[in-house]
Amino acid sequence: MTTLLERSIEYLKGVGPKKADLLKKELSIFTFQDLLMHFPYRYVDKTKFHKIRELAPDSGDVQLRGILRRISAMGEGAKKRLVGRFRDETGVIELVWFRGVYYLENSLTVGAEYVVFGRVNSFGNRLNIPHPEMEEVTPENTVSAQTFAPVYPSTEKLNTKGLDAKGRRKIMQVLFEKITPADLPENLPEYLIKKFHFSSRYKALKDIHFPKSQRDLDNATNRLKFEELFFLQLRLLQLKQRRKGAIKGFVFGKVGDNFNRFFKEKLPFELTGAQKRVIKEIRKDLGSGVQMNRLLQGDVGSGKTMVGLMCMLIALDNGYQACMMAPTEILAQQHFQSITEYVEGLGINVDFLSGSVKGKKRRGAILEKLASGETHIIIGTHALLEDPVVFKNLGLAITDEQHRFGVKQRARLWKKSSPYPPHVLVMTATPIPRTLAMTLYGDLDVSVIDELPPGRKPVTTVHRTENHRLRVFGFMKEEIAKGRQIYVVYPLIEESATLDLKNLEEGYEAISREFPLPEYAISILHGRMKSKDKDFEMARFVNGETQIMVATTVIEVGVNVPNASVMIIENTERFGLSQLHQLRGRVGRGAEQSFCILMSSFKLSNEGRERIQTMVRTTNGFEIAEADLRLRGPGNIEGTQQSGILNLKIADLARDGKILQNAREIAMRILDKDPKLEHPLNIPLRVYLEKNGQKFKGWSLIS
Ligand code: ADP
Ligand code: MG
Repeated sequence: MTTLLERSIEYLKGVGPKKADLLKKELSIFTFQDLLMHFPYRYVDKTKFHKIRELAPDSGDVQLRGILRRISAMGEGAKKRLVGRFRDETGVIELVWFRGVYYLENSLTVGAEYVVFGRVNSFGNRLNIPHPEMEEVTPENTVSAQTFAPVYPSTEKLNTKGLDAKGRRKIMQVLFEKITPADLPENLPEYLIKKFHFSSRYKALKDIHFPKSQRDLDNATNRLKFEELFFLQLRLLQLKQRRKGAIKGFVFGKVGDNFNRFFKEKLPFELTGAQKRVIKEIRKDLGSGVQMNRLLQGDVGSGKTMVGLMCMLIALDNGYQACMMAPTEILAQQHFQSITEYVEGLGINVDFLSGSVKGKKRRGAILEKLASGETHIIIGTHALLEDPVVFKNLGLAITDEQHRFGVKQRARLWKKSSPYPPHVLVMTATPIPRTLAMTLYGDLDVSVIDELPPGRKPVTTVHRTENHRLRVFGFMKEEIAKGRQIYVVYPLIEESATLDLKNLEEGYEAISREFPLPEYAISILHGRMKSKDKDFEMARFVNGETQIMVATTVIEVGVNVPNASVMIIENTERFGLSQLHQLRGRVGRGAEQSFCILMSSFKLSNEGRERIQTMVRTTNGFEIAEADLRLRGPGNIEGTQQSGILNLKIADLARDGKILQNAREIAMRILDKDPKLEHPLNIPLRVYLEKNGQKFKGWSLIS
């Protein structure tokens, strides 16, 4: 039997098949429950009235009370519109409708008193209100009964089919005439409701749609936000708990020669405290008999590669192979080179595979050695995921700069070994705000390298506009005279690729004129170049044969040229914050003072300016990530789009960090004491999760 809330939306009085179709198509509202859970995105305070005389072009939404003096249809055909004159005791304003002209002309009463609600628009130097909501003031419909009116996300189609703000409110009202508290059983345990003074679930849901006061609204919002984040965390933590119980892993019980010899004979520097701590955390996982799924977060330059390498050596010590996967050819090559150098003389075979490895014979040889176990460590791009790539015994898979990999690709990794999936270490340099990490990776273990190697000087960052160009050139010359190298980076986005490329080429020419041969040599690098040419140019710059690298963001990820100490970013306003942070991370890797110059046009949007100011103010990746989250919202943070996790109904990860933190801690405490939620007091939790658990399915494959 279907419960009331499971009923199909067309059976709600006033909806019917046509509107139901629209609700399904436009808003994915299929059932009573869906409608109930589709919350207003704002409210209109209907207790307050504006005076016409006080209205200004920026007044926004206003509510007026007065008399409709006149209406007249004007124009013809598509331009036909209805214009009304509306008056209160302070003045007159025009109301305009472009749709539903005939209907409105017949249903509005000239001379009657109305409450008018809408958004002020300025037309020339006159004000009007397009498509206002009109409510006639009648004895039954006293305005004093009005409080906060909900406004729902809508679409053009819905608006024209009677499901505009007023129509939506109407069907919500009908819904609430049907729903009783019994239809909305409590899903939080009594002790939580008491502790936080939450409203009941029924009251919270009713108040979120029809609050009678600001206080009711705040209480409802609080409870529903908590509820949403709490169940999310409860579910994620349960998944983690279950995975730990169910998915066995290879046991890497010992640390042997490879690790120890490397540590004593090869390690070129002292590990930082954070690196040591993280290696310990990983070692513990690897020895536990449970498959590791760990996210390693560390700001650019914090030394993640070394941690990855040392973990791979532990895999080798236990007789297993290891792989490291990077998102770009250049980065994979660099890892290959540096790791080959690091382990030289230890008898470890390191190999490389990417799409650019051509020739059947060459590829065949690589694959054969991998399958036979002759290759101990393989480094490459996502080519490593392809089917012909077979390992003898892959024990540890590391992916670098994780956000470039799709969920499916990562799942393929799991199938590369048996009987257990390999241990997985995901390394990312995109600092993810804590709140987001808790949600996105709530079921993973997270290690953080929160310390940079000693002796790093923070990059000095400045903002410059076009009129400083000559001085910037002068500064570049000084730095080159000191033997340093310089990046000049241009934005390149898919949609305006041709124009961007032209920008880059013009920039390259201007720089070539200013820095002529033979005194100077310049490299250029962009995504349209052949892989071979890219590598050639990159190599020239790495070897110090060129002093300036003019490039698009292909250099963004992971590339390491310690002698490069100046990063000049062109059209800075077009880059996102996390990208800017990544780019700046390319310098400041050596012992020298490094500089980042953010070039932009003089005119900037507020958001663009704030991004630049953030970059100038701080070099802390987490602080930058928080700012990014605040400015752009969680849906736009790299790595989150495909996850689908962030379709939150009411909570906002950018603003509700505290609630999230709280919800997570409480969820942890409850699961600690009662892992299966069997305690009588926790039954509402289990019942609710069992009913609503479906939508959480598949999250554990995020890694
Ligand atoms: P990221 O975390 O951005 O991947 P890398 O692994 O590329 O950072 O390391 C950046 C640089 O710091 C490399 O040149 C690396 O050799 C160096 N490095 C790593 N760990 C240390 C350390 N403990 N002390 C000094 N230098 C280090
Ligand atoms: Mg790196």
